[in-house]
Amino acid sequence: MEEQIVHFLKEKESEMVEVLKGLVELESPSHDKVAVDQVGNHMQELYTKYVGGSIEVFKDDQFGNHLRCEFGEGEEQILILTHMDTVWPKGTLEELPFRIDGDKLYGPGSFDMKGGIVQGLFAQHALKTLQIPLKTKVVMLVTSDEEIGSESSRELIESEAKKSKYVLVLESAASSIKGKLKTSRKGVGMFSIKVSGRAAHSGIEPEKGISAIEELARQILYLHSLTDFEKGTTLNIGLINGGSASNVVAAEAEAELDLRVKNNAEFERIIPLIQGLKPSKEGLTIEVTGGINRPVMERTSEISEMFETAKALAKEHLGFDLEEQASGGGSDGSFASQFAPTLDGLGPVGDGAHASNEHLLISQMPIRSALVALLIAKLA
Ligand SMILES: [Zn+2]
Repeated sequence: MEEQIVHFLKEKESEMVEVLKGLVELESPSHDKVAVDQVGNHMQELYTKYVGGSIEVFKDDQFGNHLRCEFGEGEEQILILTHMDTVWPKGTLEELPFRIDGDKLYGPGSFDMKGGIVQGLFAQHALKTLQIPLKTKVVMLVTSDEEIGSESSRELIESEAKKSKYVLVLESAASSIKGKLKTSRKGVGMFSIKVSGRAAHSGIEPEKGISAIEELARQILYLHSLTDFEKGTTLNIGLINGGSASNVVAAEAEAELDLRVKNNAEFERIIPLIQGLKPSKEGLTIEVTGGINRPVMERTSEISEMFETAKALAKEHLGFDLEEQASGGGSDGSFASQFAPTLDGLGPVGDGAHASNEHLLISQMPIRSALVALLIAKLA
C-alpha cells in the first residue's frame, strides 16, 4: 500500500506543478475578499475533481469565505489545515511572475502556502483513487485570513480541532533544503503602550512640561530588559510614535510591543509585568492594551509521537531523514494544538516566505505529498 501511494504521487509531479501554477496566478491578498473568493471557488472545483467529497462554505462579509472539505467515513476525523491568502498585494505577479528555474518554482504564495494546498490535495487524491482503507474522515479546512491573524477563521479552526484525533498543518517546512517539520511554536503577544504627559513650550517654560517621550523611552528600556534568550522569552518594541514638534515637550507617545514565549508559564510571568507598568512620576499615565495573539504550541508527548511516526514513514518509504525544529512564529497550528495533537510544517520544502525569492522545490512536492498521505493512512 505504501509503495503504491509513493509511486502514484511521483507520477503526478507535473500535474501538481500545473495545479499550483493555476493557484499562484490567482492573486489572493488577505484583505481582498473578491480575490480570495476567486481562489476559494477554484479550490472547490479542484477538490471536487481530485477528491470528490462534500464541501461546506463558511461565508464571511469582510474576508474571503472559508471552506470545509470532507471525505471518508467514521465517527472521528483527521484535520488538515491550509490557508489560501498570501501577504502579497495585487499586482505582485507582474514583478514576481510564476516561473520555474531548474528544480525551483517561484511565485507569490508558492511556498506559503499554495504549494501546501496542492500537496495536501494530491495526498487525498492518492488515498481516494487507490481506495486506501481509512477508519476516520479526512477534513481539510481552506481558510482566508491566516496571514493577518485568523480573526475570522479562528472559531472554525478551533471547533474542528476539538473534533479531531490529529491535526496536520500544511504550512511550509522550516526554510532549508532539509525541510524540517515544526513540532513547537512560540506563543505571541501583542500590546500597545500609550503614555500621556503634559505639553509645554520647550524654550519658554520647559519646566512645566512632563515628557511622554522621555517616559516611554524609560519604559522601553525596562521592557527590553525583560528579554531572556535562555528561556526563549523576547520583548521587542518594533514601532514608536509620539510628540507634535521638536520645540514642544511631548504630551503623548506610544509604542507597539511584540512578545514571544516558549511556554504558558512565561506568559503568566511576563504579561502582568507589561500590564502593570507604572509611571515614574506624577503627572504621567500609562495605558496598556492588547494580549495574547497566538497561544504556545508546546511539544507535548503526543506531538513528539506524531513526529516519530512521520520520521519512521519518511525513512522507510521515502528514504530520507526527517528532522524537526522549534519555530519562533505562530500559525493556525498554534490554535489547533490547544485541542488536538498537531504536526506543523508538513507543506513545501523551499525558502523565502514573505520574501521576493519565495520558492519551493518541485522534486520535493510528490515526496512531501506522499508523507502526508502515508501519515493519514497510518493515523486514521
Ligand atoms: Zn502560511
